Amino acid sequence: MITNIHLNSISIFDQLLDFFYSFISEEDCRLCARVMLARGQLMDGLQDFGGEARPAIIHRWINDTPRYSRVICSDCWQGLSSETPLMGFYEQDGERSFAIVSGAPYSGEMRSLIHSLKYEGDRLLAPDLAAIMLNGWRMGSIFLNQKNAVLVPVPLHWRKGMERGFNQADLLANEASKVLDIPVLRGAIKRRRATTPQQSLEKAERFKNVENAFHGNPSKLMGRAVVLVDDVCTSGATLAECAREVNRCGATKVVALTVARTMLRAGRDSGINRLRHEQKD
Ligand SMILES: [Zn+2]
Repeated sequence: MITNIHLNSISIFDQLLDFFYSFISEEDCRLCARVMLARGQLMDGLQDFGGEARPAIIHRWINDTPRYSRVICSDCWQGLSSETPLMGFYEQDGERSFAIVSGAPYSGEMRSLIHSLKYEGDRLLAPDLAAIMLNGWRMGSIFLNQKNAVLVPVPLHWRKGMERGFNQADLLANEASKVLDIPVLRGAIKRRRATTPQQSLEKAERFKNVENAFHGNPSKLMGRAVVLVDDVCTSGATLAECAREVNRCGATKVVALTVARTMLRAGRDSGINRLRHEQKD
């Protein structure tokens, strides 16, 4: 089958990349700063790490191939991956509600890792953060018929994209796509105007700030089940605006998936209703 050949070729390519990478790179764990041993799992038991270096750890599988973190050691990964995924529903009068699923609360180490990816350009973190994001997938996937599902990264304005050199939501969606075998739909929505960074605004202003900021392409979105992908959900305003636009363009279903999510206090939250905590299996 053509699909299989395609998937296998991606996997072999990734394996080769990993293999060569292991010879040329020596990364420090981004959380504890100990030296990472690339492909350390092969040496596990043969070497005494002396409390200094830690092997990378398998924390996801792509097409039956184990993948190792390059930048988060096994000890730190244990702490990160034990975070509980969060799910809430975004409900606004007159709008279709949609689920927002996040891999972990936006605090502490999670916050600093996302910051490093976004503002310091540490792209090697993208696969790990995508793996955290996918912790929540089991909850998100129950809302979707996967057959016509597509991943749609929340777009940056083109000028911001040029400045940063990448869109973190694109990187996360690409990683998620490899694991879930759901395609990334590019150019489905665009940011039609540059908006003020949401974190600099009060909550009420955030909704105003992104109002009508996105423009979707109906020929790409018609009949699709859309998984919106972003790094962080705070007020939910940006995701809600994207959801409104993809619905307008004929999407049959919307679910949002983010790496992290700010913890909301009951009663202070305008759009997203009560947060439900669910244990992963
Ligand atoms: Zn570490």
